[in-house]
Amino acid sequence: MNIRTRFAPSPTGFLHIGGARTALFCWLYARRHDGRFILRIEDTDRERSTQPAVQAILDGMQWLGLDYEEGPFYQTQRFERYRLVAAQLLEQGKAYHCYCTKQELEQMRAEQLARKQKPRYDGRCRERREPRPGVQPVVRFKNPVDGQTVVDDLVRGRVVFDNRELDDLIIARSDGTPTYNFTVVVDDMDMRISHVIRGDDHLNNTPRQMNIFEALGAPPPRYAHLPMILGPDGAKLSKRHGAVSVMQYREDGYLPEAVINYLVRLGWSHGDQEIFSREEMIRYFDIQDVNQSASAINPEKLLWLNQHYIQHGDAGKLAAELAWQLARIGVRAEDPEKLAAVVRAQQERAKTLKEMALASRFFFEEFADYDPKAADKNLTADILPGLEDVRARFAALAEWKAAGIHQALEASVSAMQLKFGKLAQPLRVAVCGGGISPPIDVTLEILGRDITLARLDRALRWISARRA
Ligand code: GLU
Repeated sequence: MNIRTRFAPSPTGFLHIGGARTALFCWLYARRHDGRFILRIEDTDRERSTQPAVQAILDGMQWLGLDYEEGPFYQTQRFERYRLVAAQLLEQGKAYHCYCTKQELEQMRAEQLARKQKPRYDGRCRERREPRPGVQPVVRFKNPVDGQTVVDDLVRGRVVFDNRELDDLIIARSDGTPTYNFTVVVDDMDMRISHVIRGDDHLNNTPRQMNIFEALGAPPPRYAHLPMILGPDGAKLSKRHGAVSVMQYREDGYLPEAVINYLVRLGWSHGDQEIFSREEMIRYFDIQDVNQSASAINPEKLLWLNQHYIQHGDAGKLAAELAWQLARIGVRAEDPEKLAAVVRAQQERAKTLKEMALASRFFFEEFADYDPKAADKNLTADILPGLEDVRARFAALAEWKAAGIHQALEASVSAMQLKFGKLAQPLRVAVCGGGISPPIDVTLEILGRDITLARLDRALRWISARRA
């Protein structure tokens, strides 16, 4: 069997955690089985669909590395096809024009409620032969009136629906535009989708869709409905916890590898393994192994994963993401070698790239002022001779490398009869502007000799001016 999966978002908002998890599972299933992954933009709701939302979906997929073989297909470009299929169903007597007015439908509903029945369309136009003058009809699908529809769900197992519970749904509105359940079926059929993997909020649509497949004489795909994602407190996911754009994670300094690794564990597991490379995910993933119960998001775990991927990431690749973060705080950093060196110096300590960017500004631009606390403590008159001594030794070094820098600093420390930290920390504040940096020798090597000496001079002037 040719495995073909699709991700079919409605572009009415951002690509959020739930959508991204669905996209990942569809992608993994296709990759695992050498199948094809298709992107379909379900933009038929013209009021709520927007171009920025489409773009956010495309950007999010790209950032996460969820590549697709086919698409993006846009439903708004397929209206003619939906119209043809609806006409075919009408012709075959599998759909019918319904002329009921809004008032009639409301009355029907009120009567059913009064009889304590579930409100549903009662099919009164099914046998109507004559159009009703002046009324633009909708097209309704003739749903089977008895029997059952069984969804043999790959996650949920067997779910049985009574056809009587499903009324004759509208497949085309009076203005001719198609409705959601219908376009999904036509597309899944035309795109030869073998597996529909989606959120379980769609489970109730599935029997309706299967009945339309049946009427079209096409075999339905297999279905897999993914359990909900909850907030860390077990409540419904809200903006506060992650019902935000996946691109927000990028802005917050997360790596796509970390987000993907985090998403894959929302509802799926492989033993107690937590860290998965893409290759491992593809090798181990199976839709049957997805949990039936909802999973709660866990921000600490995402942070932990992010730190792992920063620590173990390739400096060259991380450098690009760091440059992006720096640009966001207005720092231009274009030298890839220098960026990679900064990453190597910082990757042990940073939990996010945003944090890394903030802690690395001084590598790329002059700082405005010293951190007042660090300066008060370290840039004091008694350290002037020490800083002058180390400056002279730095200026005389034949080569500007961490090892030589370290030796020069040690020599200064012993000449001045200081403890290492008593000189190293003022030096750090002098060149970094604050009391936190990677090891000082590595920091200075990256900064380069010219900047190091210039910043030392600035500190010497500053101390003298303060003393005066
Ligand atoms: N467009 C639907 C949504 O965004 C998904 C439809 C489907 O996967 O069948 O919820």
